[in-house]
Amino acid sequence: MAQPVRVRFAPSPTGKLHIGGARTAIYNWAFARATGGAFVLRIEDTDPERSTEENTQIILRAMRWLGLDWDEGPEVGGAHGPYRQTERMETYAHALEDLKARGAAYPCFCTKEELDAKRAAAEACGGAYGGYDRACRDIDPGEARARIEAGEPHVWRLKVPDDRGPIEFDDAVYGPMSFPADVMDDMILVRSDGTPTYNFAVVCDDANMGITHVIRGDDHLSNTPRQILIYEALGYAVPTFAHLSMILGADGKKLSKRHGATSVEEYRDQGYLPDTMVNFLALLGWSLDGETTIIPRDVLCSAFSLDRITKKDAVFDETKLSWMNGQYIQRMDPDAWVRLSRPWLIEAGATESDIDERPEWYARLYPLLAERETRLSECAQKLPYLFWGPHVDLDETSIRKVLLKEGARAEEALRACRAVLADETIPWACDPLQNACRALVETLDMKAKLLFQPLRVAVCGNMVSPPLFESIELMDRADVLARIDSTLERVFASQ
Ligand code: GLU
Repeated sequence: MAQPVRVRFAPSPTGKLHIGGARTAIYNWAFARATGGAFVLRIEDTDPERSTEENTQIILRAMRWLGLDWDEGPEVGGAHGPYRQTERMETYAHALEDLKARGAAYPCFCTKEELDAKRAAAEACGGAYGGYDRACRDIDPGEARARIEAGEPHVWRLKVPDDRGPIEFDDAVYGPMSFPADVMDDMILVRSDGTPTYNFAVVCDDANMGITHVIRGDDHLSNTPRQILIYEALGYAVPTFAHLSMILGADGKKLSKRHGATSVEEYRDQGYLPDTMVNFLALLGWSLDGETTIIPRDVLCSAFSLDRITKKDAVFDETKLSWMNGQYIQRMDPDAWVRLSRPWLIEAGATESDIDERPEWYARLYPLLAERETRLSECAQKLPYLFWGPHVDLDETSIRKVLLKEGARAEEALRACRAVLADETIPWACDPLQNACRALVETLDMKAKLLFQPLRVAVCGNMVSPPLFESIELMDRADVLARIDSTLERVFASQ
């Protein structure tokens, strides 16, 4: 039986979780779920200058927001921990000892100045720098030991076997890959301060954590042959590699800040749903069948496979993202809508305590927007009128174009609608109120639009608003009447 799949997402906490990183996380997560394997989260925080705990927390939060649950990693633990590289230093030291014992690593005493001078000399001769010249490779072991004991600064390098032919591997996305071994210099494994290099730490961790598939961005493709040499030196099985193509902006250039939001958090703050982001990012380089665009999580988690990942660069299409978010908003459960819209409902005028006290009222706001909303944040602009109480904030253009429009009989329409809305025998609900007002079309011999637009402006403050009677139903009768009265007073009293 094949070995159970174990994959990992290994972010360096040097910034927020970016779109590219999120896609890598989603592919690993979906692959683990689709194969019944394990998804490991590992924090690669060995760069002390650039890694911060704050960024680690931001990444974990973004992962949770996206709903990418990890089976092993920070906060959940697991049998292969710890899951932060800074807590795994002993394992790297141990691996180095192992390599020394195998004669596969050697100390190098070349100073930075010496190495820089060699590089400069090579470049001055017009030749390309061929990498480290292995000057320390053949130092007598006794002499090396003495120099180390004397405290001479040194790094540890991998002794790449002389007879190693080209390094070949079958990438699950790119297919057969081959790198000539002679261009692989004897890379540094452990720096003079004792810290492991990226390539060394990653291999130790992936091997010790039993990772079977390394799915990551193709910016790491050139690291892979180096890492394979380390696996071989340590006698570990080499995992399957799957490198993911680049994500490009609409202009065909690599996605970057120039294109707008790049972190998952920014999309969250703009009102995108986690479901949208997972679906949308999953399709940046993978497809279910080449045409389906709405792919719910459960389908992704059962159907994801490496063989449907393309090596073509993916293009980030904001218009499609917006459309897809609208689709997910339409499919949302109203309670979830309230929960995720909370910051913008508050911006619109709601209070925390009111949302907590009458969540069912807030759930009734969902249909006002669901059909048209493409971002949850839109309610901050579209729903303030629901929170004005008896006051109305009249839009000047709407006053001019609707209430004062020549020949529109807006005042008459408004007074007639007011009378209907004041009639307590009519149930305070959308349909009865709307039907009773609609009857005025005949009584007043007026087009429905001319009848309802003044009412819309008087109640919602603007000639453009969410559905009118659906809104009225959600408001207090006294407030609605007060708004109509103050509109009549302000716009028509002096005429
Ligand atoms: N820590 C690396 C990064 O954030 C990823 C390493 C890997 O996936 O092998 O780019």
